[in-house]
Amino acid sequence: MTKPILVNVTEEIVQGLVRFILHGSEYQTFCHCEFCQMDIAADVLNHLPTVYVSTSTAREEAFQLLKTPEKMERINKQIILSVHNVGKRPHHKI
Ligand SMILES: [Zn+2]
Repeated sequence: MTKPILVNVTEEIVQGLVRFILHGSEYQTFCHCEFCQMDIAADVLNHLPTVYVSTSTAREEAFQLLKTPEKMERINKQIILSVHNVGKRPHHKI
């Protein structure tokens, strides 16, 4: 038996995607600092259902379930909304 884990699979997907989207050419003018990345991820995650799992098998299954085109589209749309929300009011001084 592998060790139990406690992860929100939505969070894992969102963190990777936020970094990826922010580094795309469309978002060059947006701040890429760690504060803004976390701020965006927090905003996204407050708008999406959590998917907590406690085993790596369940984690794999949840990944597969979340990677459907419809679910990914919903996640991507929310990330873009949150990038704009945070971009309008960054929580840090430049
Ligand atoms: Zn920033």
